[in-house]
Amino acid sequence: VAPSQLQAEIERIAVSLSGAHPKRSAFSTRRLEDAAMAFVGQRPEIQAALFRVVDVAPVCRSHADVGAHLVALLPYDDASRLLDQVVQIGRGQLGRNVLGRVASLIVRRMARRFIIAERPDLATRALSGLWHGGVAHSLDLLGEMTVMSAEADRYAVRCLGAIETLSRLVRTWQPQALLERDSAGIIPRANLSVKVSALTGLQRAEAPTRIAEDVRPRLQRLLRAARERDVHVHIDMESLDWREGILRVVLDLLSETEFRSGPSIGLVLQAYLTDSSDQLDQLLKWQDVVARRQPLTIRLVKGAYWDHEVIDAQLNGWTVPVWNEKRATDRQFELLTRRLIDASPMIRLAIGSHNLRSVAHALAYARAVGVKASDVEFQVLRGLGDDLQAALQHSGLRVRTYCPIGDLIAGMAYLVRRLLENSSNDSFLVKRAQGTDLRELLVSP
Ligand SMILES: Cc1cc2nc3c(=O)[nH]c(=O)nc-3n(C[C@H](O)[C@H](O)[C@H](O)COP(=O)(O)OP(=O)(O)OC[C@H]3O[C@@H](n4cnc5c(N)ncnc54)[C@H](O)[C@@H]3O)c2cc1C
Repeated sequence: VAPSQLQAEIERIAVSLSGAHPKRSAFSTRRLEDAAMAFVGQRPEIQAALFRVVDVAPVCRSHADVGAHLVALLPYDDASRLLDQVVQIGRGQLGRNVLGRVASLIVRRMARRFIIAERPDLATRALSGLWHGGVAHSLDLLGEMTVMSAEADRYAVRCLGAIETLSRLVRTWQPQALLERDSAGIIPRANLSVKVSALTGLQRAEAPTRIAEDVRPRLQRLLRAARERDVHVHIDMESLDWREGILRVVLDLLSETEFRSGPSIGLVLQAYLTDSSDQLDQLLKWQDVVARRQPLTIRLVKGAYWDHEVIDAQLNGWTVPVWNEKRATDRQFELLTRRLIDASPMIRLAIGSHNLRSVAHALAYARAVGVKASDVEFQVLRGLGDDLQAALQHSGLRVRTYCPIGDLIAGMAYLVRRLLENSSNDSFLVKRAQGTDLRELLVSP
């Protein structure tokens, strides 16, 4: 494909998708929230204070308590009149109370934006609404950190419950051809994302064999239930130290005769890892050897643990395993996109990105090499990718929304992770919220 032709097509698709974003007034709550996130992104000291407040908010006993923490944690900065005023307001008991109320309200609102419901059985209306509006789902059960076997057992039981709830729910749904069929065949309606680290009480990932042994019985039960109830299981990818343990237990189990016929399975490839191309080679080789009935789905993402990977490697004197430039990650994402599209329909590709350039590149390349758009799935995070979700659905493309489930405390922990990821100045969404011109963001990496 000629690069200039591909670029022209990418720009055309991205502009068209951007035009299909829902129109929001400049004063809509959503626009104000996005602007606030972009503002926080430019002020690391406010960012740090807010993260700490979100951390302590669940255990605060009163609004004044939250207000007091906020004032104590905010950096005192003569240069910022806004901060100065906030600190002044928080000097008195009444002021602290008001500040605390406002902060709690914002934190709760933001957490609700990202989580779909407290429990799977409370999410059924929202999930049915998505489906009949042309959008598929993947459910993600949030939890606090798993530090004991009993918690890992509890997470497994919650996953089994979600499989049961989803399988019953989707039977009542009207057919949606685009969402449940591609060139490789039937795509299960029900979809659950699973974190392997939550299936073990072992907190350190340095011994992959032990991790795999500990996770195995719980994951085996999940896979059996998912196969019987036709639920797709998507294994999320976590920080690099977990990768070996995760892949070992998942690929070993899936290689067994028992699981050749199902369930439908997905893995995640993180383009920010410098060895991600080798990782893809290994997955393609594995899929060739272990002829499973359904093709593996690969959710291609950039990776959510960039700061962690850099700091962890530096602290330990290791080679940093991620690209050190955003452009390099973007370039790798496009390279892997092309390789995965070339492997279609032997592999099902899901593009997990909110970056219009990355999304448009996948569509443009698929069209250029004659792969149907319906053979590429697009995945977005609830709360962050809502506008892109609407644009993709409106454009007749298959979109799946990753829907976290959990209570407020779990929601807040998730919120902190999403904020950390999206307050980075390099983030596509932040640049858009700051008003960067779309054309500038569509330049080839
Ligand atoms: C449906 C869905 C599921 C996901 N599941 C997972 C998962 O299982 N595991 C996981 O790790 N992530 C997952 N993610 C998150 C994903 O990895 C990205 O963090 C997130 O989507 C932001 O990428 P983007 O393409 O939307 O935005 P962009 O703004 O284009 O990219 C931001 C990303 O670029 C990379 N980056 C930022 N700064 C630098 C730098 N200086 N040098 C090099 N690279 C840099 C980081 O990976 C950062 O997240 C998921 C995302 C979605 C939408």
